[in-house]
Amino acid sequence: MIRFFILFLLSLSLYGAQVENLRWANGETFLVFLERLNLPTKELYYNLDKDDQKLTEEVRTGVNYQILRDENALIEQVLIPMNDDLQIHIYKNNGSYDFEAIPIISETKEEAFTIQINHSPYYDIVKATGSKKLAQIFVASFRNSLNFKRDLRKGDTLVVIYDQKYRLGEPFSMPTLKVAMIEMRGKKHFIYLNDDERYYNEKGHEVEGFLLARPVKNARISSYFSNRRFHPILKKYRAHLGVDYAARRGTPIMAAGSGKIIFAGYTRGYGNLIKIRHSDGYMTLYAHQKSFRSGIKKGRYVKKGQVIGYVGNTGLSTGPHLHFGLYKQGRAINPLRVVQVATKKLKGKEKESFLKLKTDYDKNVESHIANKTAFVKKKSRETVCYFNNCKTKEVIKTDG
Ligand SMILES: [Zn+2]
Repeated sequence: MIRFFILFLLSLSLYGAQVENLRWANGETFLVFLERLNLPTKELYYNLDKDDQKLTEEVRTGVNYQILRDENALIEQVLIPMNDDLQIHIYKNNGSYDFEAIPIISETKEEAFTIQINHSPYYDIVKATGSKKLAQIFVASFRNSLNFKRDLRKGDTLVVIYDQKYRLGEPFSMPTLKVAMIEMRGKKHFIYLNDDERYYNEKGHEVEGFLLARPVKNARISSYFSNRRFHPILKKYRAHLGVDYAARRGTPIMAAGSGKIIFAGYTRGYGNLIKIRHSDGYMTLYAHQKSFRSGIKKGRYVKKGQVIGYVGNTGLSTGPHLHFGLYKQGRAINPLRVVQVATKKLKGKEKESFLKLKTDYDKNVESHIANKTAFVKKKSRETVCYFNNCKTKEVIKTDG
């Protein structure tokens, strides 16, 4: 495991304090985390309201989080990102600790690179960038339309244009693919991210291969997805990482897509919970169930539309409903953007505006090929300071 420290050069009062940059361990729950660090579970978990308690169940394995310690190595503050927009902030306050959810300050940069293929797109992208995420995204985007094994030749070119977020000077979250181009046997193949946040090929046909079904029939949506919203009355930040379908207790819940059940059990926040892993890094989550259908358990494969359980009110829930979550590469995304029955073909005005966007992107792609744009690893020099009362001048990072 890579573990490194960021040393802040701080004002005198915090001289000697240091920030540890850590990775969330596989399977560790927020409660276990608190206990392991001797942080008070009453103040930081049991006394929280339901929404904040549920938020703590969203901590993801492998996420980078930070602990700031004082000169005596006592914990001053902890920052745990929950998604791209919101993070849990634990901080010392009057001899105890407090919990809050605060916005993440991140910076988004558009980046691009072109490479010539020697072995395979996956291998060569990882070699050029060091990023498995970029390689996965590229390969997945053409999975349903191209056959790299059959048609690729050594020396063929690919171009990737994407947005990358940076938090605390480090690449953060999944890159967002904007254009992927691969030239095979003299023919260029493209995938574009359109303004409607869906992917299309050069003809304006949607290419996203993953189609989700609605998990409950005829149900009213009682709460929509949000990565971060400010609650004006409670005066605090919230996130709702899914969609709530209000339905009668006992209403059947269907698998939104085919896949393997990777969790079927009880959690405090989400009650009776099922998680299903699908292809291409997608995962769906079904919370607050009354019960599971018999035979539904971890390790089982289910088909799209198959009944897996029944709507209930278990866990931290205020009425019978299904909380339905969709995750891509571990990151919560809005299920309503993906729930649909067929891929879309752009027509009329929509197609016109897509073609405009495509023309601009095509020019970009050509210039990256002409300039042989190489992947550039960004320097990590921090300018954002998350912790109160710290006056960051500069950050020195050392591998340790
Ligand atoms: Zn919900």
